[in-house]
Amino acid sequence: MTPEKPGRREFVDTLTKASLLLTLPGITPTAAFWQPAEPVTVGQVMDLILKTIPNAPFPKTVDTLKSGTADQKVTGIVSTMFATMDVIEQTARLGANFIIVHEPTFYNHADETDWLDKDEVFKRKHDLLAKHGIAVWRFHDYWHSHRPDGIRMGVVTALGWEKYMDSTNPRIITLPAPLPLKQIITHAKEKLGIAMMRVVGDPAQSCRRILLMPGASGGRSHILAIQQDKPDVILCGEISEWETAEYVRDARQQGQKLSLGILGHIMSEAPGMQWLVPWLQPKLPGMKITYIDSKNPFMYL
Ligand SMILES: [Zn+2]
Repeated sequence: MTPEKPGRREFVDTLTKASLLLTLPGITPTAAFWQPAEPVTVGQVMDLILKTIPNAPFPKTVDTLKSGTADQKVTGIVSTMFATMDVIEQTARLGANFIIVHEPTFYNHADETDWLDKDEVFKRKHDLLAKHGIAVWRFHDYWHSHRPDGIRMGVVTALGWEKYMDSTNPRIITLPAPLPLKQIITHAKEKLGIAMMRVVGDPAQSCRRILLMPGASGGRSHILAIQQDKPDVILCGEISEWETAEYVRDARQQGQKLSLGILGHIMSEAPGMQWLVPWLQPKLPGMKITYIDSKNPFMYL
């Protein structure tokens, strides 16, 4: 997965020269548009990204190539939550051949496929990727390990709450003034494009301190964070119904003013893959990088 060292050094040199060129007076960005001496490979893009992640590469990670090879030349990059059938088709139509995803492609955390060998859905997706020669790389553990966490930055930015983020404890948002829970929920739905949210609490409860936990970090981590951070409301991605929700229900029945709003795993993390585009683009000038919204698969009947 890691390309030969000399190739990578050459590539970084080209990038450095290109960015110097961009700063020269009289040269417009278009004129200086980066033309790599050699096409960039999937492995080179991965390496370029990994250089920004503390302690990368990790010895154990789910962030591996799920399709394609490290030495294939990149014609364009797509960032998305899931490489769905639609996203794969759209990528091919864009002329791109490298999809960076946050979540699994083959329906389990490690993207193990031996158990799906004879499965029609798996085979058709696998064949579609092969037909279009598309590489898929999962960018999950590394993106969360970036400082700041790329997923968190994406969702906080989408919510317009960057300025309310606690710099020493980024999972805490302190609003400038308390708002009724109902208003916070409406804001989150609107900004994140969420159709419906499940809430435990009182819509009229006045909330100022928000514990924001996108994704699915698990009941224990939610509950430990509630203990530590004492929020008015926890907004999280995905829960097991018998964990965080029951804890919040008990706390409320004991008289605590604590509420829970469930954003959904996908809708709470997708903005982080959108945030990847402006982050990655300056590192790869001239490369076409597109965000595709893989969307929420659920409808509410
Ligand atoms: Zn995540």
